[in-house]
Amino acid sequence: MKAWVLHGIGDLRYETVKDPLPGKQEVCIQVKAAGICGSDIPRLYQNGAYSHPLIPGHEFSGVVVDVGEGVSTDWLGRRVGVFPLIPCGSCISCEKKLYEMCRNYSYTGSRRDGAFAEYVTVPVRNLISLPKEVSFEEAAMLEPMSVAVHAVRRIQPQKTDIVTVCGLGTIGLFVTMFLQEAGIRNILTIGNKDFQKQTVRKLGLLDDAYCDSRKQDAFEWIKEHTDGEGTDVFFECVGRERTYTLAINSTAPLGKVMLVGNPFSDMGLSRDIYWKILRNQLTVTGTWNSAFLHEPEDDWNYVLERLAKKRIAPAEMITHRYSLEDLEKGFHIMRDKTEDYVKIMGIA
Ligand SMILES: [Zn+2]
Ligand SMILES: [Zn+2]
Repeated sequence: MKAWVLHGIGDLRYETVKDPLPGKQEVCIQVKAAGICGSDIPRLYQNGAYSHPLIPGHEFSGVVVDVGEGVSTDWLGRRVGVFPLIPCGSCISCEKKLYEMCRNYSYTGSRRDGAFAEYVTVPVRNLISLPKEVSFEEAAMLEPMSVAVHAVRRIQPQKTDIVTVCGLGTIGLFVTMFLQEAGIRNILTIGNKDFQKQTVRKLGLLDDAYCDSRKQDAFEWIKEHTDGEGTDVFFECVGRERTYTLAINSTAPLGKVMLVGNPFSDMGLSRDIYWKILRNQLTVTGTWNSAFLHEPEDDWNYVLERLAKKRIAPAEMITHRYSLEDLEKGFHIMRDKTEDYVKIMGIA
């Protein structure tokens, strides 16, 4: 088969490799759609993967074309989405079914071969069957959407809360989408790119709910939009010292700050910001990954249900589509930031 193989940092090659064979309790999937995640870019060009050579790609969907030992042939031909994290099943987190915090996990597309290829093998327990209403492209975004939903559900904002989302990359936009879907009436968004205003509008927000932090002071803007009180909930989806400082500064007494963005660097904490956490009795909390338990209430099934009922339209977030062969163009756009993008999708 053809695949993008990472041989080392910055050494990505499109080449012919052996077709993968499903092992025990595994299936082989023909990849139909695979999105590029923000985390793929440092993996390819800065830090490398866990081991090399490795086929990256962890946001994907496809059709089951082969089953390994112990897997029912009923799976053949099924359209599926895939939870990329493969928990060890035996650590303390796994025993508590908190798989996203497994200490000894494997991961499709970073620790074992992923989906920037024609075929990929995964454990059968990582599959989620797709209803016919859900497209392959939508299903390839189940992972980033579930990550966003996980953050939102850990906060459980009230409908009357003023909720601020700072950072409108894919996850920030999905957080906004699910807040909107959940009926939160007062959502404020902070971005720094011209097209983000249009994207936020597509999600049903008014122009007044968008602040371009290059043009206006976001702290003052939040103050103006909250009668000087601050926001009840703040989703920090950037991961920079400036924005988490803004989060703590702009959150109302007894408010909640959710840290979503992966940190770009060390994060300092000045004394007056520390004081704010104490004096305003803030809840500052983190989120990681998503929960997939094969239960109707887990993050993945929460998203799938809303997709099937057409309550969300994530395909509007796809700004670029490339064949597998041309996918490198997408990697370069995200690395060099030569064009605006939200989600770049590889399609078969
Ligand atoms: Zn990702
Ligand atoms: Zn584990």
